[in-house]
Amino acid sequence: MTDLPDLSSPREVMALLEKHGLKPRKQLGQNFLIDGNIARKIVAAVGVKEGDAVVEIGPGVGALTAELAQSGANLLAIEVDRGLAAMLEDLFKPCPGVRVFRQDVLKVNWSELVGRYFEPAAAVKLVSNLPYVISGPFMYTLFRARFPFETAVLMFQKEVAHRLVARPGDSNYGGLSVLSQYYTAGKVLFNVSNNVFWPRPRVGSAVLRLIPRRFILDEGEEELFWYLVQGVFQQRRKTMFNNMLRIFPELRLQMDEIFEEASIKPSIRPEQLTVEQFAMMTRITYNYHG
Ligand code: SAM
Repeated sequence: MTDLPDLSSPREVMALLEKHGLKPRKQLGQNFLIDGNIARKIVAAVGVKEGDAVVEIGPGVGALTAELAQSGANLLAIEVDRGLAAMLEDLFKPCPGVRVFRQDVLKVNWSELVGRYFEPAAAVKLVSNLPYVISGPFMYTLFRARFPFETAVLMFQKEVAHRLVARPGDSNYGGLSVLSQYYTAGKVLFNVSNNVFWPRPRVGSAVLRLIPRRFILDEGEEELFWYLVQGVFQQRRKTMFNNMLRIFPELRLQMDEIFEEASIKPSIRPEQLTVEQFAMMTRITYNYHG
């Protein structure tokens, strides 16, 4: 560990990249954390103990990776950039607990990956300073996989972090909020200034903790839940009734009954419905579908 360069020094990070013939790539959202205190704060929030199974997405030049290695994690770091992945492998060679996997995280099959790298019953923790360009699609892949982690501490563009935990009636409450809150309970832990990254991004960030929630719907109903949630938010200013008619035209004659059974006012807008109401609406619609 002592051989690692000081990853909180922009000068050393630049020198490291130069040595490997690399430059930050904007299209991959490469804004590297250059503040040791923030890196330690994030890793402390994960609560990593010696031997814990941890996945890090987008390790970059390794600011969080180094802290995680220090805490004795059994770490799998997934980086899409071939040059960075090779550099990290080299850098973390002295750390037997760190494995680097070059892969596009949007293409990961989570149950297969977790089964391949960790003990069968391992409770896996997830950490990432997420590339902003993929944060939405990435979260959808985790929810599709039913959030197979014990806990996740993730840094997002501030606006995305707040969208994930937005409540009904908030202006940023949408499909991503509902799905996020169906699968996880989330809490914004702290904000992070854009000054602690190199190159400096235009916007600030926030660190969020997510833990899995128990499911309300059974697997058969789940597909319909996604369809319903994503469908009704396509026209968020229209009433829930009109949205439901648009996405389930085949249930036109039963629609009054569906709303009555769910005790939901037809004139309500999607942005006013709680996650539990969305789940109930799904279950009732599912029954009418036959
Ligand atoms: N974790 C580092 C830090 O805090 O300094 C780097 C964070 S940087 C915002 C995002 C990292 O994610 C970059 O290293 C980038 O190459 C990587 N990345 C971008 N898209 C990715 C993808 N689809 N799969 C895996 N890694 C990706």
